Amino acid sequence: MSRVVGLRCLTCGADYPVSGMFEGCPKCRRGEFASNLNLEYDLAPLRGLTRRALEEWTGPGIWRFAPLLPVEREDCRVTLGEGNTPLLICPRLSRDAGVELWVKDESRNPTWSYKDRLACVATSKALELGAKVTTMASTGNHGAATAAYAARAGLDCVIFTLPTVPQAMVSLMLSYGAKVVATTFYGRWELMAHCVREYGWYPMGNYLMALPTGNPFGLDGYKTLAFEICIQRHWDVPDAVFVPVGYGEGFRGIWRGFCDMRDLGLIEKVPAMVAVEPEGGPICNALKKGATIPERVPAKQSVAFSINGDYTSVGSMVTIRESGGSGVEVTDAEIMSAQALLGLEGFYPEPSSAASVAGALKLAREGRLRDVRSVVCILTSTGLKDPAATAAVRPGPPAIEPRVSELMRALKETYGFDPGA
Ligand SMILES: *Cc1c(COP(=O)(O)O)cnc(C)c1O
Ligand SMILES: [Zn+2]
Repeated sequence: MSRVVGLRCLTCGADYPVSGMFEGCPKCRRGEFASNLNLEYDLAPLRGLTRRALEEWTGPGIWRFAPLLPVEREDCRVTLGEGNTPLLICPRLSRDAGVELWVKDESRNPTWSYKDRLACVATSKALELGAKVTTMASTGNHGAATAAYAARAGLDCVIFTLPTVPQAMVSLMLSYGAKVVATTFYGRWELMAHCVREYGWYPMGNYLMALPTGNPFGLDGYKTLAFEICIQRHWDVPDAVFVPVGYGEGFRGIWRGFCDMRDLGLIEKVPAMVAVEPEGGPICNALKKGATIPERVPAKQSVAFSINGDYTSVGSMVTIRESGGSGVEVTDAEIMSAQALLGLEGFYPEPSSAASVAGALKLAREGRLRDVRSVVCILTSTGLKDPAATAAVRPGPPAIEPRVSELMRALKETYGFDPGA
């Protein structure tokens, strides 16, 4: 069992005791600038761990990896059977891209997105700390996952959302018994901040109108994605991992998981972490300017609403730097094309999730994957969360009279398919 020894600022390196510090480093906070605090672990108790021994760890859901997660009390570890999602190669896309292109299909999680890994650990931590209410400002997957794990843990849950939230998302939150209120864009953060500071509600993620600092315990839930990838690839670490990035908690968490494996001597190489975001996003904006601080850039309209925000975190930039990674921006057309191509491999990801593959295909087209043998793209959620996005770019099926001649004509005209040929 490793031990959490403190929180460390990603910008100034200051150390803090583990406590409910969800607003980032107090020393670094200035206006819209806020710097993440990450958990520091003492891995010494795990020295000598072998690959084989780690593979044989057992436990429910991602608690299989409990010795590397920040919840000590076993009776507080909530699970809905998250994690252990398939890692599969896409043969056609691999051929097209000239690299082995693998996808990690996170739509197989309990609420059909990778946010379950975060919500699992953050909710368990809330229980361990004796919180009674969890809360989140979310228009989507984060809210759904928060609500489900609160239900499982027997905690009350309040979600602040927007009137524009997709129906599928709000139905999920309400089904899990969350108390959902729709309010204004900035008002949801102000209300959440008040309830966290005044009533001790436990924040599952960001509530600052500044660079997001999030929940450092939840962030480490994403480490398990890296552990699973190492095991599923029999310790052949991919050259690059493509992640759809908004605040960058998933992106950073996955990277931290690979770092754990490296620090324990289980792998030598680590992957380059590639952040994929909608065109005009804050990461590529900062990279173009050579800036280490990702400033706010007003989000444009994008089909990838789960990753389309004004802000990303300091953690996103630090992860790119530490891993020798990069950022790539993708258009709606590139995202929807990737979703269609993934359909032909048997996957139906949310547009935000298809962005990871759109990013990999884009770099391949630009000749920037020439030295790369294998990439893993994270499919963070399912397309069923937003089927309207697909319907908007795909004509419906042709309606025909039930006659064989009409069938043959329709198959040929609409699909270019000739059964006799
Ligand atoms: C939240 C989310 C992301 C981005 O996660 P961050 O930690 O905010 O970067 C990506 N894809 C989906 C489907 C999401 O819900
Ligand atoms: Zn600091």
